[in-house]
Amino acid sequence: MYDYDLLVVGSANADLVIDVERRPGAGETVLGGDLAVHPGGKGANQAVAAARLGARTALLARVGDDGHGRLLLDSLRTAGVATAGVLTGGAPTGVALITVDPSGDNSIVVSPGANGRLTPGDVRDADRLLRTSRVVSAQLEIPLETVVEVVRRLPEGGRFVLNPSPPRPLPREVLAACDPLIVNEHEAKVILGGAAAGDAPEDWARSLLAEGPRSVVVTLGAEGALVASAADADEARDGDGEGDGVEVARVAPVRVDAVDTTGAGDAFTAALAWRLGTGATLAEAAGYAARVGAAAVTRRGAQESFPTGAEVGAP
Ligand code: ATP
Repeated sequence: MYDYDLLVVGSANADLVIDVERRPGAGETVLGGDLAVHPGGKGANQAVAAARLGARTALLARVGDDGHGRLLLDSLRTAGVATAGVLTGGAPTGVALITVDPSGDNSIVVSPGANGRLTPGDVRDADRLLRTSRVVSAQLEIPLETVVEVVRRLPEGGRFVLNPSPPRPLPREVLAACDPLIVNEHEAKVILGGAAAGDAPEDWARSLLAEGPRSVVVTLGAEGALVASAADADEARDGDGEGDGVEVARVAPVRVDAVDTTGAGDAFTAALAWRLGTGATLAEAAGYAARVGAAAVTRRGAQESFPTGAEVGAP
């Protein structure tokens, strides 16, 4: 009945990276190293991460009719992502121009390009993809109205996972569809807009749940993550000490020597979304996702750093 375990709706960018001794100031020109071009964008990253783990994965995205678009399509196909939903044209492929100094600090200019042309109409045209995917995930590097259309067209019982990156305040309609909403600390604060009930990640998770999502995951980098959802009826009666019917659990961090955290959030989100579709509980799926995120930080790059299912081991 389902053709895909995961449909990712999101961005595809070419990341153009130059190492520099010093990042240029206004009006300044500096010489850098050789240009490196990497496939990226949160949507493409998530799709590649899921496919490498073994999930049957499709991507709904838009690239330009240009060399960068072909690079992205190549990397997606090599990873095993179904690309019939990757539309072409309308604007140049999205690009991130990245300069990195020796301390690892970077400056980034993003041209959304074709990502900004992925429209609600494109979502309507992809109705079959939506109906034949167990789980749908999205991020916010595409127009918000496109994400709203995804939420409106979810099939009955369809599961929606959102990583609101880059973060912005979200309509209630989108928040209410998230199961889960996956945020890091920065994203949590922007979504809450100062409405957090306290300073601890547990407080943000509770405050976010009150905004409407069915469940929330807060990622905490090397400290792991935490998951929050409404307690089931029995546990709500027993109470968890807070008396608000919310269950919050820590996901233990996986200790590794991190060399580059780029893409860890995308790998984590993809792994979690895939496992949820197989029937795992939120805590089980997040435990697996933490292993995938930890593996991704042990290698450089984004897509190049994502582990295979065999490398991570049994879910
Ligand atoms: P990014 O934007 O860099 O892709 P993010 O801020 O969205 O990442 P993180 O919280 O940094 O997300 O990472 C996602 C998950 O990956 C974490 O919840 C954790 O499970 C894992 N992870 C990230 N960094 C490390 C680390 N240094 N050691 C172990 N696990 C890590």
